[in-house]
Amino acid sequence: MNAGGEVHFESKVVDFILRDGGTKMAGVVLADGREITGESVILATGHSARDIYQLLADKKILMEQKPFAVGMRIEHPQPLIDSIQYSYERGTERPRILPAARYNLATKIDNRGVHSFCMCPGGFIVPAATMNDEVVVNGMSLARRNSPFANSGMVVTVEPEDTVKFKKEHGILAGIAYQKDLEVKASVAGGGKQKAPGQKVNDFIAGKLSAELPKTSYFPGLTSCRLDEILPHDVSYRMKIGLKKFGNQMKGYLGEEANLLGFETRTSSPLRIPRDEQSLTHPEVVNLIPCGEGAGYAGGIVSAAIDGLKCAEAAIVLK
Ligand SMILES: Cc1cc2nc3c(=O)[nH]c(=O)nc-3n(C[C@H](O)[C@H](O)[C@H](O)COP(=O)(O)OP(=O)(O)OC[C@H]3O[C@@H](n4cnc5c(N)ncnc54)[C@H](O)[C@@H]3O)c2cc1C
Repeated sequence: MNAGGEVHFESKVVDFILRDGGTKMAGVVLADGREITGESVILATGHSARDIYQLLADKKILMEQKPFAVGMRIEHPQPLIDSIQYSYERGTERPRILPAARYNLATKIDNRGVHSFCMCPGGFIVPAATMNDEVVVNGMSLARRNSPFANSGMVVTVEPEDTVKFKKEHGILAGIAYQKDLEVKASVAGGGKQKAPGQKVNDFIAGKLSAELPKTSYFPGLTSCRLDEILPHDVSYRMKIGLKKFGNQMKGYLGEEANLLGFETRTSSPLRIPRDEQSLTHPEVVNLIPCGEGAGYAGGIVSAAIDGLKCAEAAIVLK
C-alpha cells in the first residue's frame, strides 16, 4: 500500500482487454464496467473461478489439462484415530501432552494414486461448493483441534484421458465438466439444502446402502446413498482396493464408525495456464502472469502465497 497499491474489494473481473492481436493483455474489465489497465496482469483467481477458465477458453488463451484428484471425505471419531495412532486401548483418554492424532495414507492402484488429502485432526467437514446446484465437501480444523471428529479427503488421481467423455462438448474444460458432473450428482443424491450423500466405509466396500449413518460434523446433514455407484467406476473400484489396504495398515480404520461423504472434487486445478519458467509469463500473451493454485503452480496456502511473491517480482521485472 505504501508503494501506491490499491485493493478493490467486491470487484469481479468479467473480461480481459487484449491488444496486438491477443498477444498483450492491457488490463481487465470489472463487472461494474470499470476498466483497470496496467503493464502486466497477474491472474490468481484460484481453482474454482470457472468463469475465468471459460473466459480464457473463449479468448483462445492457451491452457493445458493436468491431473487432479476426486473422491470423498472420510470421517471417524477422533478418539478412534488417537487409539490407532498412539497404540492404546479405545476408551483410554488421550494424554494431554499428545495432540489429536493425524495420518497420511497413500498407495497406487492400476497406475492411479489413491491417497488421503488434507487430514483434519479434531476437525469439521464443511460445505465448499461455489454454485447452488453443487455439493462439494472439504475439511478444516480450528486451532484447538478439539472437535470429536477426525476427517480427511480420500481421493483417486484423475488423468486428462479419464475425462475424455466430456472432451467433445467441453474441450479443454473437460476436467472442470468432470468435477461439475460429480458435484451436481452429489447435490441431487443429497436431496438439497447442501445435504451430502453419505455411506459407511464398510458398505461402500461391500456395495450396499447404509441402513443408518454414523454421527457427523457436517452440519447440513447427510442422506444415505450408494456413493460407490455414483462415482465413476475407475475411481470407485480403486478407492475400494485402496481403502482395504489402508484398513490393513491402520487396524480399526474401516470399522462401523467410519463414514464417507461425497464428494471431494476441488483438491487442485484440472488445468494449468502455462508460463515461462524464468519470466513466469504466458508463452503467447507476453505480459500475462498466471499465478497460484488456479493456474496450477500451488497446492495449499503457503505454496500459493510464495507463488504470489514470485509473480509480483516477475511483474516488477516486466515493468
Ligand atoms: C475449507 C478449506 C480448507 C482448506 N484448508 C487448507 C489448509 O489447512 N492448508 C492449506 O495449505 N490449504 C488449505 N486449503 C486450500 C487453500 O485455501 C488454497 O490452496 C489456497 O487458498 C489457494 O490460494 P490461491 O491464492 O491460489 O487461490 P484462492 O485462495 O482461491 O484465491 C483466489 C481469489 O480470486 C478471487 N476471484 C476469483 N474469480 C475472480 C474474478 N472473476 N474477479 C476477481 N476476483 C476473483 C476469489 O474470490 C479469491 O479471493 C483449504 C481450502 C478450503 C476450501
